[in-house]
Amino acid sequence: MKFTDFNLKQDLEKAVNAAGFVEPSPIQEQAIPVVIAGRDIVAQAQTGTGKTAAFGLPILQNMKCDGTVEAVVIVPTRELAMQVSDELFRFGKFLNAKTATVYGGSSYSRQIKHVEAASIIVATPGRFIDLLKNKQIKISPSFVVLDEADEMMDMGFLDDIKEIFTFMPDERQTLMFSATMPEPIKRLAKTVLKDPEFITITKSEITNTNIKQSFYVVEEYERDDALMRLFDYKDPYKSIVFCRMKRDVDRLATYLVSQGFSAKGLHGDMEQRQREEVIRAFKGDKLEVLVATDVAARGLDVKDVSHVFNYQLPFDSEPYVHRIGRTGRAGREGVAVSIVTPAEFRSLKKIQKDVGTQIESKVIPTIGDVRSKQKASLVDKLKAQEIDEKVCEFIEDLKEDFDLSTIVYKLASFIGDQEKVKGKDKIGKSLKDIEFMLSRVREGGGGGNRNRSQRRRNGGGGGNRSGGGRGRDGGNRSGGGRGRDGGNRSRSGGQDRNRSRSRD
Ligand code: ADP
Ligand code: MG
Repeated sequence: MKFTDFNLKQDLEKAVNAAGFVEPSPIQEQAIPVVIAGRDIVAQAQTGTGKTAAFGLPILQNMKCDGTVEAVVIVPTRELAMQVSDELFRFGKFLNAKTATVYGGSSYSRQIKHVEAASIIVATPGRFIDLLKNKQIKISPSFVVLDEADEMMDMGFLDDIKEIFTFMPDERQTLMFSATMPEPIKRLAKTVLKDPEFITITKSEITNTNIKQSFYVVEEYERDDALMRLFDYKDPYKSIVFCRMKRDVDRLATYLVSQGFSAKGLHGDMEQRQREEVIRAFKGDKLEVLVATDVAARGLDVKDVSHVFNYQLPFDSEPYVHRIGRTGRAGREGVAVSIVTPAEFRSLKKIQKDVGTQIESKVIPTIGDVRSKQKASLVDKLKAQEIDEKVCEFIEDLKEDFDLSTIVYKLASFIGDQEKVKGKDKIGKSLKDIEFMLSRVREGGGGGNRNRSQRRRNGGGGGNRSGGGRGRDGGNRSGGGRGRDGGNRSRSGGQDRNRSRSRD
């Protein structure tokens, strides 16, 4: 199927072409005709499957674009509001459909002014209900969209959403999107939608099969070492590291920077401007690692995230699915890696069962593993390397002291030294251990208390660890530039080389 099959208005089709969309995704294929026909829908689809276009295109198709506010899209976070608004602006550009965003932490007066000029409003529930209640905006939209409804519920917005609907006209088309369908969401659907068509993408389609998922088992104190080793081994092009707590985000971001990565943290305690800056840098290739909490990274759409790392597992499968959905976007391949301690086995089992896809258990690569992989990629790099005229003089100088083969060996050893792999050789558990330990964990039932107390204990451990108890190699690593590829990690020079790296 092609987008041209929807018979969209010319100005809309032009925008779809400009966006480079050719084939609709499954959710788009199912939702677009139904919404164009005027039906309410409840659609269940995973993040990264193209929901924005699934509601944006048919709404724009049916909008008059007469300068009034015709559509409202409600989303859980500020970042998502900006992102959805950008995407809708792209589609509505040739129709003159302006978009405006409404979210907390930004000036009221400016937002109100923009709202008055917009055809589509993209809003977070809190600020939107404020504006409606204080009669600061008066609107009567024909289309209301709830995007990521389950997320909004998790964030405690359910009552706000119900109240928002008391301000919406009865004569309207309502569309609801959610990755999961817990009971309260189903109940909400019953009250705010009229005879909706249910669109469910089957389980195998829900979880993005382009994402390779694996987990590694370590002890609590090994998490940092494990993450570093995995970075060394996988050499991710662009990655997000998820932590449960804000203080882990801050600590880990600082630590990664000390190891020579360009990394920054993203969490809810940061100022809006700071958060926007970090996201922009990450999208613009100025950052290679983003360390984030679940809330901060919800719905984040960065196309070329090659790896997602779970520094800790989330407690439940929903956030897990949302986290890994940050990679493998728009048909690309992605890798999702979880670092798991035995205390997290219950969460792991639950996630495995709910997600329904294979999460493969793996063993953290040893120093030898990393070295052989580095060697292979070094060979490739050398083959692709062009000879720089400037080095000729340098070689001539060396030739005064050594013959050519000695020079070659010396240079190769020098590179080898630069690529030293830090940390102890064996980190984490063997496959046999993992299998044994997992077999002893019963899923669900009882033990909830134990889990909780373990959680607390883990939290305490985190603090100790950052106190400098890692021992491993003390200040050595933080000497600056990880050495590995000669401080060449900055994107500017080696972009092509970096891009051509194999992603595993
Ligand atoms: P979701 O809301 O389901 O998480 P998005 O609407 O954010 O997904 O879409 C994810 C990414 O895929 C966006 O960058 C979007 O531009 C892109 N995309 C969506 N639909 C298509 C399509 N049919 N063809 C190519 N890219 C698409
Ligand atoms: Mg979305």
